[in-house]
Amino acid sequence: MADTIFDKSRPTRRAAAQRVESRATEKFVPEQFQRLSPPMLPEVSELQAVRHFTNLARRNFSIDTHFYPLGSCTMKYNPRGAHRAAMQDGFLNRHPLTPTSHSQGVLSCLYELQEILQNVTGTAQVCLTPMAGAQGELTGALMIKAYHADNNDHERLEIIVPTAAHGTNPATASMAGLIAKEVEVNADGDVDLESLKRVVGPKTAGVMLTNPSTCAVFERRIQAISDIVHDAGGLLYYDGANLNAILGRARPGDMQFDVLHLNLHKTFATPHGGGGPGAGPVGANELLAPYLPTPMVIKSESGYRWLDQAERPKSIGRLSSFMGNVGILLRAYAYSLMLGGNGMCDVSDYATLNANYLMRRLSDAGFHPAYPVRRATHEFAISLRQEAKETGVTAMDFAKRLLDYGFHAPTTYFPLLIPECFLIEPTETETKEELDAFADAMIAILKEAQQDPEFVKQAPHEQSVGRLDEVQAVRQLDVTAH
Ligand SMILES: *Cc1c(COP(=O)(O)O)cnc(C)c1O
Repeated sequence: MADTIFDKSRPTRRAAAQRVESRATEKFVPEQFQRLSPPMLPEVSELQAVRHFTNLARRNFSIDTHFYPLGSCTMKYNPRGAHRAAMQDGFLNRHPLTPTSHSQGVLSCLYELQEILQNVTGTAQVCLTPMAGAQGELTGALMIKAYHADNNDHERLEIIVPTAAHGTNPATASMAGLIAKEVEVNADGDVDLESLKRVVGPKTAGVMLTNPSTCAVFERRIQAISDIVHDAGGLLYYDGANLNAILGRARPGDMQFDVLHLNLHKTFATPHGGGGPGAGPVGANELLAPYLPTPMVIKSESGYRWLDQAERPKSIGRLSSFMGNVGILLRAYAYSLMLGGNGMCDVSDYATLNANYLMRRLSDAGFHPAYPVRRATHEFAISLRQEAKETGVTAMDFAKRLLDYGFHAPTTYFPLLIPECFLIEPTETETKEELDAFADAMIAILKEAQQDPEFVKQAPHEQSVGRLDEVQAVRQLDVTAH
């Protein structure tokens, strides 16, 4: 392992290739707040710092360097144009307490983004401020609960969550004080309607449906599910974290959903990974819109302004400070304008075409799609159970060996419903050549597994680190250990 930057430190060495005037911040900081001793920073030259961080970055897999088909996470290319638009000085330097009269530009962008997302999802109103997908779900669950409480329906505390839902669904429902009730999915990946009918009743608050589900298929009986739950007096929540398969083509609002969230950091041009920042806007139909969080932007005769709690008495309140992760919202706004309606259709067309093409190439080569009778959505699952049985090489071993071939591994061992699972999401931004290269690598690894399984089980062979003790890394993280 290379040294840390502190090992390279030498007293009094400074990271300035040219002599620059020190920014005299002391001038502005009152004396009692000035520090007494210098901070413990590494003392290195500018070139040492540049090399250190460049070499560290080169060890990373990133979307800028490698194909990154991490299912459910959508590691797609985020156009630099959207990034640049959001990084303009006026946006970056605006103080969050700037009065509305001096914030008409940013408010107009946010207002138009609300409108765009309403259009895209088929909802009546959208609130932009929740800051992650899971927080959007919590918002929706709280809104459903508030609606039933308003109708003096205090018994409705059960929320139905299919086993193919994202793990955050039951977690956020229980944070909102609801009780998650599981229903099964059948062998084709659809919700089992009989199982659903058995659990709905007078205690049903609603259903949370991840669609496409984590099994990577589109729920085919969405209309029947919607009727069953609505007829029982429950509401419908759509987990639209990954809108890439349906963007511009199908709208949850048209499928009778009452409330939903989307992840701008999966669909609308925000790089993600490493924990954020993101944005999980929530949209609702007329019935639930009054419960949406505050603040929201409205357009009035005197210009754009925030709608606050006093004007929205039923609102569940705030979920973020100020206006949410506004830098992320601005990227989504720029991205939407760059795409336009036709461009959004292209996104879903190519996301699904790429996934279906890659699934077909792998199944032609003898791999096993988890739902062979189903079309891929923006992603698809394969099960490596048979390969593991025949060669002893598991999904984890395939994942590690892919790194040597220059590919980030797909999502591995998720969803739990599928044994030895790879959840593969190629995204719309990859070329056919890249998809073919990935399929060729999978085929080559399968051959290695048959001829020399031990070699694959010891992969990766060409990375700066081999197999890590993941349990210890979680319990006792020490990034400076050599
Ligand atoms: C990613 C994801 C979430 C959670 O989103 P976060 O922003 O990570 O909280 C929820 N549901 C689905 C289907 C997802 O893919």
